[in-house]
Amino acid sequence: MGKISARSVGIDLGTTFSALAYLDEKGRPRTVTNSRGHDVTPSAVWVKPDRSVVVGEAALAARRNRADHVAVNFKRDMGEKVYHEPVCGKQFSPQALSALVLKKLGIDARNVLENITGAVITVPAYFGDARRKATQDAGRIAGLNVLDIINEPTAAALANAFAEYVHRGGDMVRLDVARIATTAPATTLIYDLGGGTFDVTIIRIDNNNFEVVATGGEVQLGGVDFDRRVLNYYCDEFQRRTGVDPRDTAESTVKILNACEAAKIHLSKAEQATIEGEYLGKQMKLPVSRQRFEQLTSDLLARTQLCVEMLLEDALLGWDRIDNILMVGGSSRMPQVTRMLAEVSGKAPDMAAAPDQIVAHGAAIHAAILTYDRASATPSAPKKPITPDAELSFLDDDDDEDEGGPSASGSTSFDDIPLSLPIEEESEDQSDAPVSAPIAPMEAPIARGIKLTDVNSHGLGVIVRSSRESRTVNSVIIPKNTPLPTTRVKVFGTEAANQRQVRLRITEGDARDPRGCTQIGECLIRLLPKGLPKGSPVEVRFAYDRSGRVHVRAVELTSGAGADVEIKRDTGFDADTVGKMADIVAEIDVE
Ligand code: AMP
Repeated sequence: MGKISARSVGIDLGTTFSALAYLDEKGRPRTVTNSRGHDVTPSAVWVKPDRSVVVGEAALAARRNRADHVAVNFKRDMGEKVYHEPVCGKQFSPQALSALVLKKLGIDARNVLENITGAVITVPAYFGDARRKATQDAGRIAGLNVLDIINEPTAAALANAFAEYVHRGGDMVRLDVARIATTAPATTLIYDLGGGTFDVTIIRIDNNNFEVVATGGEVQLGGVDFDRRVLNYYCDEFQRRTGVDPRDTAESTVKILNACEAAKIHLSKAEQATIEGEYLGKQMKLPVSRQRFEQLTSDLLARTQLCVEMLLEDALLGWDRIDNILMVGGSSRMPQVTRMLAEVSGKAPDMAAAPDQIVAHGAAIHAAILTYDRASATPSAPKKPITPDAELSFLDDDDDEDEGGPSASGSTSFDDIPLSLPIEEESEDQSDAPVSAPIAPMEAPIARGIKLTDVNSHGLGVIVRSSRESRTVNSVIIPKNTPLPTTRVKVFGTEAANQRQVRLRITEGDARDPRGCTQIGECLIRLLPKGLPKGSPVEVRFAYDRSGRVHVRAVELTSGAGADVEIKRDTGFDADTVGKMADIVAEIDVE
């Protein structure tokens, strides 16, 4: 059979498994099987001493004997500078490890597709700016044309609505005419418990409009945490009976962790499982009942329940306003998840038809939409300026009142700082650029009429000095769950005469106390005109683009001069480094 013509793909870059999908000639989402014939590929990277790399099942198997040569769960470290431990004696960034997984997925895809013109990569809705940027960079390092990133639950909702439409006999190639989604507006709660992260999102689907109402979750909560609970249960007992602890070496820990994961999965369909392990010549078989497993992990499940309840509160919705519950992610197969959701909601949750692949399918649909939209856009059209939304105001009521007016919004730490810092140039979102790649004929019809609107999962703010509270506080400028894209404007006053630059500390988070937020970087507004009097207003525009990425612009209002704005992120790479890493990854043999 010949290969399918060039097209864009969707990639679910998961903590434990990753998958790549595309739309076939008839517009159906298809998952690419890997070189072992599986739909999903473990996100595991084995680095060999000769610098060649193995990704997937073989890497997981190698972990049993060479744990220090295999990296796993690096998605949890996205946004950090380095993966939390050395691999084969070297430190790797999570972006580089993710890029190697993406490269492997791309290699497998080229067995089926002539070429990959672009890719949409999924991210947990709860990812902040640093993790989103790291994901985009991982794609670029892998040599992919990253069209966009999309939130995993949004992708799942899109694929689910699409599958339902097809199930009802809908014509996949005439999606512009027939409606993909329900004819009656429906509000869906998507509960996504994967291997390493938990997301919960409420999406309102009205005809072909997919509008995310609110999103929440935890970046450090997933199937691996359930596995570790069982691991500790088993090892504590092992130690009690034998006097030795298998957790003492990485290799024996990995072996027992694998057995614990297998037992956990078995308990999803059976009442009882047995874990067998061996360490230093001592062996132990330990039966575990489902009831025991549920006790060991009840607080983890309760954390997901709390997130769901908080989300409903944020969205000002009761369960009566939720029409359906869609469960996504491998860990949603645990029976206690369905039971808990049914109990709190009084509704029967639906398990997605292919919970491991649905996210990649949604990303592939989104990639097709974008490919069509961009190919049909006029390439020379000027970039749209960021348009302030209706709530644009010069002063942030809450904070400026607190701080005593604009000139006192000096609040912000205004100081002349040396310019020798290695500063990352804040560039336009590259995903906005028109894509010149050809589009497959079937990608055109699906593209019309579907509109996705997402929200930001974290508030965006700056650290300011509140004179009323006599302390430094986080002033939220764009609250979480604001529809994207969005722009808010705030005016700051210079603190000294002839001040040439201003430094803002930008935060993610909704807490008033800066310690409850993440500082994502510093924004340096520089090259202000000479001779400005003290208190000169500087207007700063904070924006989230559609992908949840942060952008900042500034204008000095007296002269109208635009000031240079640079964001120095606490972590992350500049474009140059990404390019260099892409060259290195291109040279690495990946199998
Ligand atoms: P995902 O990231 O969505 O592919 O989910 C992977 C996670 O789902 C891993 O932690 C798996 O152990 C877990 N998982 C997969 N199948 C099951 C199952 N039948 N029961 C419980 N957990 C499962």
